[in-house]
Amino acid sequence: MTTPISTQAAPCFRRTKIIFTLGPATESEAMLETLIRGGADIVRLNMAHAKHDWTRMVIRRIRAVSARVGREIAIMMDIKGPEIRTGDLEVPIELKAGEIFDFTVKPGATRDQSEEVRSVNVNYQDLVNDIKVGDTVLVDNGLIRLEVLTKDHAHIRCRVLIPGELKSKRHINLPGVKVNLPSFTEKDRADSTVGLEEGIDFLALSFVRAAADIALLRAFLAEKKSTVRIIAKIEDQSAITNLDDIIAATDSIMVARGDLGIECPFEELPVIQRRAVQSCIAQGKPVIIATHMLESMTSQPVPTRAEITDVANAVYEQADCVMLSGETTIGKYPVECVQMLDKISRRIEREDAPDLREPAVFATERMKVLHSAVVLANELPRSKLLTFTRHGFMAHGLAALRPVHSPILAFTPHPELLRQLRLLRAVEPYLMPFPSEPDITIENAIETLRRLGHVSPGDKIIIATDIVSQDRLVDAIQLRTIR
Ligand code: PEP
Repeated sequence: MTTPISTQAAPCFRRTKIIFTLGPATESEAMLETLIRGGADIVRLNMAHAKHDWTRMVIRRIRAVSARVGREIAIMMDIKGPEIRTGDLEVPIELKAGEIFDFTVKPGATRDQSEEVRSVNVNYQDLVNDIKVGDTVLVDNGLIRLEVLTKDHAHIRCRVLIPGELKSKRHINLPGVKVNLPSFTEKDRADSTVGLEEGIDFLALSFVRAAADIALLRAFLAEKKSTVRIIAKIEDQSAITNLDDIIAATDSIMVARGDLGIECPFEELPVIQRRAVQSCIAQGKPVIIATHMLESMTSQPVPTRAEITDVANAVYEQADCVMLSGETTIGKYPVECVQMLDKISRRIEREDAPDLREPAVFATERMKVLHSAVVLANELPRSKLLTFTRHGFMAHGLAALRPVHSPILAFTPHPELLRQLRLLRAVEPYLMPFPSEPDITIENAIETLRRLGHVSPGDKIIIATDIVSQDRLVDAIQLRTIR
């Protein structure tokens, strides 16, 4: 009998995975232990705010706590991508409605001072070429809105439409403007290198605008001989235009609703989310719904009714993961937030799930075989899908087919793959060496599940596997009843 390294605490499986972002509120060992035991599946490191020493320290800490708890969670490094920011200000500027204001891309360049015009520097010189008169400039998460009046080689002169207090180093969004910044910056390269050295599982690339951005990151990962999986963050209008191509090129996507809600008209957000989830399901790629899921719980112990419904909506849509950001970086109730996502997901998952499978996922012969396994599982009460996966294909295939009620119990001999499988809806990963005899592998897996209490007598186990027969890989489906 082999001993699995990873054990699953909860015998009743949650299909929707939970991601939380690490920050001052959650970085302690005690808090990590509580969140891992509480069912968090993936921890996100936001490199917009992280130093390298801290990054290395927390990755090692997460691994150590996971090992102690006996449940390996995955680590996602979220790299900043192309970002335009305002420069430093000695004191904040209170921008007034109607005020004329300059953004300066070449500090020190002379400008028209015929009237008293205040200004701030911007960290991107080519902005003057990308932007047009009439475009909108949004500052500080869209809190301040300006309209471009004129521009020259060094300055963009604007009128303030929505006033507010401008502080140092604020994020600038330019809805609909095609920005020519590189998609994978020097900072991203340096951050990713640290992540790869420390053994992260996922790299989330911010502001992906086209499939070519993914190709660039893949080339970098190939150069580093890395098997880290890519998450494309969908957060502006170019990404929406190129959505299907981006989904085809990436390993998974994140609907990053924070920036998306600034870059696109807000009423488009639910439409974009639904379309993104459906396109991912159609192409068999995992999808994460992120940002503001339980925003009010940053300072309150209970969510608003609207937040509960928003989380439920993501589960009804059959997204793979829901994600927490500020709620767990600086929030007062990070543990309660994870508990809340867990509770809402489990409740909604008990409702009838619509069959969302789209023709695109049946593209290969293997998917047709896996589909038969899922059809069988859907028809049998108390059924569980069992699979064995060295590269993740079988588990990905089954998850893409969205079984209605059966969990997908996925055994792998590789710890890295075990962690990456945590992204997939309904997949429960287990670590176990694979003996050369397929039958012994199956027996060992069932014995492990029995010992953990994850199967019980009467359960129907549908085994979807590929076995070597006469030097060929043959896809096979078996049905066994647990005695
Ligand atoms: C978002 O914009 O929703 C998001 C997840 O990205 P970030 O937190 O990096 O802004």
